[in-house]
Amino acid sequence: MNIIEIIEKKKHNNKLSTEEIIFVVENYLNGKIADYQMSALLMAIWFNGMDNNEIYDLTISMAKSGKIIDLSSISEKKVDKHSTGGVGDKTSLILLPMVASLGVPVPKISGRGLGHTGGTIDKLESITGFQTDLTIENFIKNVKKIKASIISANINLAPADKHIYSLRDVTGTIDSIPLIASSIMSKKIAGGADAFVLNITVGRGAFIKNISNAILLAETMVDIGRKNQKDTYVVISSMNQPLGFAVGNSLEVQEVISLLNNKGPDDLKEICLFIGAYMLIAGNVTRNVEDGINMLKEVLENGKALNKFKQIVKSQNGDIAQIDKPDLLPKSKYQGEIYSEQKGFIDKVDALLIGDASRILGAGREAKDDAIDLSAGIVLKKKIGQKVNPKDILATLHYNDEKKYFLAKDIVKNAFHVIDKKPKKEPLLLSYIDEHGLKKLQ
Ligand code: URA
Repeated sequence: MNIIEIIEKKKHNNKLSTEEIIFVVENYLNGKIADYQMSALLMAIWFNGMDNNEIYDLTISMAKSGKIIDLSSISEKKVDKHSTGGVGDKTSLILLPMVASLGVPVPKISGRGLGHTGGTIDKLESITGFQTDLTIENFIKNVKKIKASIISANINLAPADKHIYSLRDVTGTIDSIPLIASSIMSKKIAGGADAFVLNITVGRGAFIKNISNAILLAETMVDIGRKNQKDTYVVISSMNQPLGFAVGNSLEVQEVISLLNNKGPDDLKEICLFIGAYMLIAGNVTRNVEDGINMLKEVLENGKALNKFKQIVKSQNGDIAQIDKPDLLPKSKYQGEIYSEQKGFIDKVDALLIGDASRILGAGREAKDDAIDLSAGIVLKKKIGQKVNPKDILATLHYNDEKKYFLAKDIVKNAFHVIDKKPKKEPLLLSYIDEHGLKKLQ
């Protein structure tokens, strides 16, 4: 078997065999297949796709490229969650403590930022000392003791995904249904949970731009999950404008703390309650979405979710003083404001442009080994539907490098669009898949 023949085969839109897929994953990981060859294959997959059998084989090969965590010593049903990513998407950081505080064990395998989107691991690292490269033993110990832990996909866990994920980030091959499905599901399977709740984002700031592709991705991932005897639920949500107001690592952690203190933002709360309810259903705590939402509201109100977050931070060596006083989280040296020049109503806050601008400010990576600036990012002051007048602040940019600020500020300005009449409210929650199949919410 040889990689050139495999690239040629996919380039001509032929199906790869199980053996060929195993060969690619093993040999890319051990360095016998070079980055440039893997890039060519990824691009051929981007153009020609894969069928469900190929996607399944790729998922399993990547999952088996490292350890599959054995969580059988934890008797309750364990639920993992994953999002296809977005701008300002900090839902995992809220869902983990909310759901764990209601008794469902959540062993969470997360990734870093990808493209214009942020990553849970990068966000958590803005808490001083927070360790995401736990040993598998400590990860299991934490899930047993406090019901939740977060570990990064690393040399032990789905390492093939870690390498391919970084390569996709810099080769324009992120937004491919087979590659997204296999990337996410390989990490989930390696993580060893019994059930998965997946959030597929769709729209300007997502990798998936339209609802029909979102449904195709959802069905592909459900198929992989069920073939592995994992209960798999999907929530499809809109990512046309950023979620919440904060975009950027430390800024997003501050917003997480605000929500765990039962404050806003409303859109972030709405989506966390809905996805969280499915995590409770997946964990057999309730059978009903409304009951689940009420239980989650209660742990926000009575402080149990916030306490659980502190337990998670402490168990992973993070500084809990920063959770009590978010002012202690990394702060940028400078802040610059973007003002409205028009009067009217905001009709668009382009999540892709905001994500790009945030990456330029330093919150994301340009190249695969770049360090990120944890304090950089953007705080929106206006979102779709809000009234604006000339000189109103639209957004505040947080930065440490003037040159980056000059590159980002016009992009942020262009992300906003103002019209005369108040626009119709855009729905956030679009569809879901549960054990009864696909349901449209809009
Ligand atoms: N999240 C992942 O883990 N992988 C992808 O490919 C996209 C989002």
